[in-house]
Amino acid sequence: MTELSDGMARLIGPWTLTVTVDNHDRQQHFPPLVDMLNGQLAPGMEGGSGGGLPSTRNILDVQSLDLLIHIQDVTRAWLQEWGVQGAGELKLDLRGFWERLNTLHNTGAMDDTTFEHLASYPDTWAAKVWDLIEPPKTVPLRRTECPKCGVDKVSNAEGESSDNLTITFRVGHEFTAECRNRECAAVWIGVTGLQDLGRSLGIKIDIDTLQEAVAQMG
Ligand SMILES: [Zn+2]
Repeated sequence: MTELSDGMARLIGPWTLTVTVDNHDRQQHFPPLVDMLNGQLAPGMEGGSGGGLPSTRNILDVQSLDLLIHIQDVTRAWLQEWGVQGAGELKLDLRGFWERLNTLHNTGAMDDTTFEHLASYPDTWAAKVWDLIEPPKTVPLRRTECPKCGVDKVSNAEGESSDNLTITFRVGHEFTAECRNRECAAVWIGVTGLQDLGRSLGIKIDIDTLQEAVAQMG
C-alpha cells in the first residue's frame, strides 16, 4: 500500500493530535476529516465540533459545503482523466486518487513537478477542513510595522483598515506570526520565530501572556 501524506491520512482515516496543556502532552482522537466536514453540514450528525444548539448554527454551512464540493469535484475530475472508475464515496475516491497518482509517478508516466503539485492537494484540503472546524485564533500586533515590508495596516475589500501583523494560533500547531500584506506574506513560526520578530520590532513578545489570551478566547 502506498504511504499516505499527513493530510491524506487525516482526510480518510482516524487521526490523533498531540496537544500540550500545562506542559503535559495529551492525545486527542478524531474521526476522518472528511467525516468531520460532512458533520458540519447537518447538526447532530457524527463528527464536527458538535458544539452549540441547532438554533445557533446554520443548518447548511455554506463554507463547509463549498469546500466539500470542491474536494469532490477535483478528485473525481482527476479520476476521470486517468480513466479510473469513481467509488461514489469521497474517502474511497480520495484513496483511489492517491493510489493512481503514486502509480503514475512511480512508473514514470508523470513528471515530478506535476506529481508534487497534485500530491500537495490533500494537505491543503486537510488544513482548510481543520480551519473550518477549529477556526484559528488571531491576536493583532497593534501599532507595529512588518520588519520585512514596512506595512502597518491592511485594508479589506470593504476598505476597512486593520493591523497588518497578527499572531495566529491553531490547535495542535505552534504560534505563527503573519504579515497580511500579500506582496510580503512573511511568517514567523514558533516561539523562536516570535522572539526573532520581537527583536526586529524592539518589543518583547510574551508567550505566556499569548497563551492566556488564546485560552480566554474559548
Ligand atoms: Zn510584511
